[in-house]
Amino acid sequence: MRDHTFRLEQLKPMRSKQVGLAVLGYPISHSISPQIHNAALQILALKDSTFAQWSYKKVEVEVNDLSTSINTLAELGYIGINLTIPHKVKVLPHLSLIDEQARIMGAVNTLRMEHGGWKGYNTDGVGLSRAIEDAFKLPLGEFNVIVLGAGGAARAAVAQCIFEGCQNIALYNRTIDRATELVSALKENGIEKKVSLLESFTNPFDGLNEPVVVINATALGLRPEDPSPVDLSGLDGNFHVYDMVYNPPVTQLMRAAMEKGYPVANGLGMLVGQAARSLEIWSGQEVSVRAMREAAQAAVLS
Ligand code: NAP
Repeated sequence: MRDHTFRLEQLKPMRSKQVGLAVLGYPISHSISPQIHNAALQILALKDSTFAQWSYKKVEVEVNDLSTSINTLAELGYIGINLTIPHKVKVLPHLSLIDEQARIMGAVNTLRMEHGGWKGYNTDGVGLSRAIEDAFKLPLGEFNVIVLGAGGAARAAVAQCIFEGCQNIALYNRTIDRATELVSALKENGIEKKVSLLESFTNPFDGLNEPVVVINATALGLRPEDPSPVDLSGLDGNFHVYDMVYNPPVTQLMRAAMEKGYPVANGLGMLVGQAARSLEIWSGQEVSVRAMREAAQAAVLS
């Protein structure tokens, strides 16, 4: 079941012990973040009843209203915000502080009220890393990686691979200039690690015989009729495929990988992982990833 979508003017000030969290985006009605977060808050409330006063809402905010909206939420007493399309980069000039890893990623998806201002974090990279380890039972840092795409999600993925010490990272995007720009942006932000740029999709790690994960960070796969962003037929080796798309739950890329016998996983684990990290940042508590995953699975099926 889809949760109610709020407009900013419908939100009320927090009363004394209430704690407000929200996700802002446009469009936002499809978001299942409220179900995921509220499931974990219910579990937290079993141990500490103050969490029964916490709630998480989704709020439709257009791009021109972003700065007003985060100010209004601060005035209403909200302490945490998630940001999704199209706000993750546009919010940067409106923050008081930014976490170092988020600065390198060039985007934030989580804001926490700190000392009267919003501090930005990016939990997408951690979410991806947790999901890959959970799905393939190997830490991200032990894979060689091919990232497909060059948008915000690809940048978070490449940066996370660098933070976690992946030995070899390659980037492939339909528009090679955008991939070049992504690598330059990481360099400008102090990352010197070499990322190979692929002009065509081939195996850059041929002969290495080490585990490789192909991460789809393109928008291809979101529509059931979308083709796979790359042709896997020429690949041979210890491949794994992680698709950031989670709805539909099986993409053409995943199908092609399964036909070759490669382990695959969809983006639901990443969605849950980034949500869990956000709630940890806001609450300072370990959260129930299991409850979040079950809520996400139920919400996707409904
Ligand atoms: P974005 O900034 O708009 O980037 C889109 C990327 O997709 C670009 O690299 C673009 O290539 C590529 N692309 C779009 N249409 C394509 C096509 N027809 N053929 C080949 N490539 C195409 O988007 P984003 O924010 O990075 O998000 C990318 C994907 O990650 C989305 O599917 C999003 O839902 C997913 N995501 C999932 C999670 C999660 O928690 N599971 C979190 C974040 C993002 P060009 O540069 O050539 O245009």
